[in-house]
Amino acid sequence: MRVLVTGAAGFLGSHLVDRLLREGDELLGVDNLSTGDEENLAHLKSDPRFHFERRDICHPFDPGPVDYVFNFASPASPPEYLRLGIETLRVGSLGVENTLQIALRHHAGYLQASTSECYGDPLEHPQTESYWGNVNPVGPRSVYDESKRFAEAMVMAYQRTHGVNTHLVRIFNTYGPRLRPGDGRVISNFMMQALCGEPLTVYGDGSQTRSFCYVDDLIEGIVRLARSDEHLPVNIGNPEEYTIRQCAQAVLEATGAQSELRFVDLPEDDPTRRQPDIAKARELLGWAPRIGLKDGLQRSLEYFQRKAAVAQR
Ligand code: UDP
Repeated sequence: MRVLVTGAAGFLGSHLVDRLLREGDELLGVDNLSTGDEENLAHLKSDPRFHFERRDICHPFDPGPVDYVFNFASPASPPEYLRLGIETLRVGSLGVENTLQIALRHHAGYLQASTSECYGDPLEHPQTESYWGNVNPVGPRSVYDESKRFAEAMVMAYQRTHGVNTHLVRIFNTYGPRLRPGDGRVISNFMMQALCGEPLTVYGDGSQTRSFCYVDDLIEGIVRLARSDEHLPVNIGNPEEYTIRQCAQAVLEATGAQSELRFVDLPEDDPTRRQPDIAKARELLGWAPRIGLKDGLQRSLEYFQRKAAVAQR
């Protein structure tokens, strides 16, 4: 297969590229590098089956014949999408339609990276795919939440109107190597702070919850979904739910650090809890995560140690 991956230099995009190359596909990766990092693809420089193009998918383009389009282009960490609000809305609307046009033109399959943020600050717990969400359409996070919700609507419209073979994965919090230090997400912040001997910044009282999925588990779920016949959204995430304070504790144990917790203001509209109901993924894809938080943090340790060594130089 010849496959297009957008957002290929990002955390998830680059792991997806690696996985698809292992399966024998030929890959075209594109990224405008607004939040992605070419270093995530540096090990593929001499791979003849991988090509990279720096481009912004908000402008129409034709990659030539492709069999599949994975659309992973978007800022995804809260500080980054707050900084890049308009870009986030544009990539979730113009970028999504441009890549759907590619899938339509070349009769390719299509998978859109959607998000648990579609559920907003959820009033249903855990979140099933049939829950419509509780999103503030004008709050600070709306640039991301509404961009991803619009993207889902656009993808469904191309499926219903043009019969494009589309898929929607709602991705819950994911971590692992290549999660960019300094992009502001909780696991990268805590790991870097712990390894640099700094206090861990807990936002609010740390009682809010998240459910953390190790990247390899997530990619496996996505690859299975891409090959399925399901067009409606499917949650992929690890249902093991932790308070942010428990997450801080887990990072301290994984790193052996003695850092204190520093409690700072909770960002506006920070969801109070989040946990995927993965019954649909289990049934439809025979998928379930295998790697718990403790194990996943161990697997991420070497990467963050390298990054911390660079940061401390
Ligand atoms: N968080 C925190 N300290 C940090 C970064 C994040 O306590 O240094 C909290 C944040 O308020 C949120 C949770 O951790 O409740 C997850 O944040 P993240 O930015 O990783 O992703 P989100 O799930 O909010 O999109």
